[in-house]
Amino acid sequence: AAPLKVCIVGSGNWGSAIARIVGGNARTLQRFATTVKMWVFEENVNGRKLTDIINTDHENVKYLPGYKLPDNVVAVPHLRDAAEGADLLVFVVPHQFIRGLCDEMVDCVSRTARGITLIKGIDEGPEGLKLISDIIREKMDIDVSVLMGANIANEVAAENFCETTIGSKSMENGLLFKELLQTPNFRITVVDDADTVELCGALKNIVAVGAGFCDGLRCGDNTKAAVIRLGLMEMIAFAKLFSKDGVVSSATFLESCGVADLITTCYGGRNRRVAEAFAKTGKTIEVLEQEMLNGQKLQVSLFPLRITCAGWKICFEGRPVREMISCLQSHPEHL
Ligand code: NAD
Ligand code: 13P
Repeated sequence: AAPLKVCIVGSGNWGSAIARIVGGNARTLQRFATTVKMWVFEENVNGRKLTDIINTDHENVKYLPGYKLPDNVVAVPHLRDAAEGADLLVFVVPHQFIRGLCDEMVDCVSRTARGITLIKGIDEGPEGLKLISDIIREKMDIDVSVLMGANIANEVAAENFCETTIGSKSMENGLLFKELLQTPNFRITVVDDADTVELCGALKNIVAVGAGFCDGLRCGDNTKAAVIRLGLMEMIAFAKLFSKDGVVSSATFLESCGVADLITTCYGGRNRRVAEAFAKTGKTIEVLEQEMLNGQKLQVSLFPLRITCAGWKICFEGRPVREMISCLQSHPEHL
């Protein structure tokens, strides 16, 4: 069979880290075409186009400075040029952009192409909360797997050992993406409970906001552990409520996408960092995103959960940060 052509849709912090892995594997594994196209949202960085910088210096100096990209990863500024003819599509953009991007590439991707989303977030569109994989599936009519885990991008780029989880409704496709993405230091487990895997990735980001408030209030590690535990309980409850098909396996929360990603994000994630600064400085979330994230986007959504509602009201509706503690004190787990 002809080698499978891979396109990475996105090139931020995580997109660039994953491009190092995909590029390396595409070069060594016969099953994949050597050249990997990576769609880059074009911008000027120090007077040069980011695509030119990546294609000549092989480094995404804005979003993943200090790590080289393999030279078989080619930065492409036009999405349709990048996606045309791809057999495998790796979606890795902030969730805010996915609808527009799918609309743009819909008729240049074959329906036999297979996708995987690494996007941790949820769509808050006109039909309510929607999984990002469902948006891609519906708009592009392709099979979509998900990959979520305890994977801070810079640590993955540094090739420190970590685990991750692929959720796939088709085991064959899940295993194909495992082949594309696994390395000795990036170990993948494939499960079929894909919606739960994806929900874990979206929900943990919100719990991390609560963890950041605790840090900002200098509550200490016991309180933060309580936020993590209660947050996990709420994640499980929400997944069961939200599930379309009723298939929510408690074991999925013990995979890297569940408890491990929750822990790493509550310690090292950007939401935690910005929430801590919010509690300490009183600046708005929008200002802190501008000041602290250098073009990266916060991944916050409103979920109907206790901790996330409290977090949302504190971030965006002017409620005092200490309400996070009242929310914990009156948590139904303890009534
Ligand atoms: P990021 O936040 O680092 O980067 C922002 C990206 O958005 C840049 O590539 C930028 O070019 C692009 N962008 C800016 N404006 C745009 C526009 N108008 N249209 C389209 N793109 C635009 O992105 P990231 O860290 O790669 O995150 C992507 C997803 O991966 C997120 O859902 C995130 O939660 C998830 N994730 C991130 C990490 C991590 O450690 N960074 C780890 C695992 C998962
Ligand atoms: P953020 O950088 O978005 O917090 O991502 C962390 C993450 O998803 C770790 O798995």
